[in-house]
Amino acid sequence: MEAGLQETDIEILAREAAVIAPTLARYTSIIAERGEGSYLYARNGRKYLDFASGIATNNVGHCHPRVVQAATEQVKKLIHTCSSVAHVELNVLLAEKLVQITPPSVDMCFLANTGAEAIEGALKLARYVSRKSIVIAFAGAFHGRTLGAVSVTSSKAHYRAGYQPLLPSVFMAPYPYCFRCPLGHHRDTCSLECLSYLRYMLKTFAPAEDVAAIIIEPVLGEGGYVPPPVEYLRGLRQVCDQHGILLIFDEVQTGFGRTGEMFASQVFGVDPDIMTVAKGIASGFPLSAIVASSRLMKNWPAGTHGSTFGGNPVSCAAALASISVIEEEGLLANARARGNQLMGRLEDFKRAFPAICDVRGVGLMIGIELGKPDGSPDKEAVAAIREKCLQDGLLLLSCGTAENVIRLVPPLNVSEAEVEEALGIIERALRNI
Ligand code: PMP
Repeated sequence: MEAGLQETDIEILAREAAVIAPTLARYTSIIAERGEGSYLYARNGRKYLDFASGIATNNVGHCHPRVVQAATEQVKKLIHTCSSVAHVELNVLLAEKLVQITPPSVDMCFLANTGAEAIEGALKLARYVSRKSIVIAFAGAFHGRTLGAVSVTSSKAHYRAGYQPLLPSVFMAPYPYCFRCPLGHHRDTCSLECLSYLRYMLKTFAPAEDVAAIIIEPVLGEGGYVPPPVEYLRGLRQVCDQHGILLIFDEVQTGFGRTGEMFASQVFGVDPDIMTVAKGIASGFPLSAIVASSRLMKNWPAGTHGSTFGGNPVSCAAALASISVIEEEGLLANARARGNQLMGRLEDFKRAFPAICDVRGVGLMIGIELGKPDGSPDKEAVAAIREKCLQDGLLLLSCGTAENVIRLVPPLNVSEAEVEEALGIIERALRNI
C-alpha cells in the first residue's frame, strides 16, 4: 500500500471492500481524482507520472481538451438512443474513419463497447460465416474475461480456473515468444519451428478444414509485451490463405498509435480478415469495434448479433476527436521518437543491471523482462521496482505469465522531459533492488 494515504482514503478503501467485489484485482491503492496529460492526481494530492494509461487506453493523455469538448457537446445533444432504435450519423462517421485508417482488407464495422465484447463478436462472426467451429488461439494470449474471450485466453491459468468447461474446439498454438521460446529454440538460430508446429496442428488434432479462425495479438500484450518476428505473422497469413482460415488480429491493446503506426498490422505489413479494436479508440469512453472484410460482414444477417450500447453517440464523438488528435498532433511520430528514446536508455540499463534480461517493444509498447541469476522469471524484482517507482511518483504496470515484465505504456503525446523523468525514477528503483 502506498505511503501517503490519508485517513479518509483508508475509510473509502474499507467501504469499497464492503460493497465492491474483491474479484477485481488491483495494481495500486491510489484513489484517482483527476487526470491531465501524462499525470494522474490522487485524492490525497499526490501526483503520478502515468505510464499505465488506464491499461493502454489514454493514448492521447488524460482529459485531452479536444476529447473533453467533443464529448461535452455530444452529451448536451444526445446521450443514447440505441443504434437498433434509430440510426446515428456519428456511427457512420466513425465507421468511415475506422475503415480509412485500418488495413484495406477490412472495410466494414460493428460497434460494441469493450474489448471482450469485440472478441466475442469476432468469434461469432468467424463461426457464422465459415460454418466451421475450431478456433486456434495462442498460449500466453489475453483476449478478455467473458466466457468466449476467456476460452481463447491463456496468459494466466488463474483466468480460466474454476470456469471449465470453456468453449469447445479451441486449440492453443505456441506464440513466437523468442526470448523464452516455448519450443526451446534460440531466436538467432531458429527456423520458425513454432510456425511448423502450427502446420502440424492443422494436420493432426485441429483439422484445417474445420478451422474457422486463428486469433492472435500482433504484439502479445498481457502475456509479456512480446513483438513477434515479422516472418511469423507473414507465415501465419500464408497458412490462413492456404487453408481458407480467417485471420483475426486482436488490436485491442496495440491499436490507435500504440505501436508507432495506427495499428500493429501496419507495422508488420500483414492484413487480417477481422480486427478487434477498443481501449485507445475513445480515450477512455467505453467503445470497441469489430472491423472486418465486407465479404464476411455481408453474410452476417440482421439480428444475428447486436448491442444496446454499442456505438454510443458520446463514445463515438470522443473516438472521432481522439483519432483526429492522433493524426493532427503528430502522435505516431512522437510514439516512435519517444519509443526510441526509451529503448536506447533501457538497452544501457540492461548492460548495467543484470536483473534485466530482455528489453523489447514497438513504439510505446515496451516491456522490460526481469530474471534471476539462474534465468528464471523474477516476479519479486518487478513488484519491488513497481513499488519503489510508485513511491517516487511513477505509475507502472507489470505483465507476463510470470508477472516478471514491467510494461511501459505512456500516452502517445508524452514529452521527452517526461520520458527522462520516468527513466530517472526507473534507474533509481533498479539501483535499489
Ligand atoms: N484483448 C486484448 C489484447 C486486451 O489487452 C484486452 C484487455 N487488456 C482485451 C482484449 C479485453 O478488453 P476489455 O477489458 O475492454 O474487455
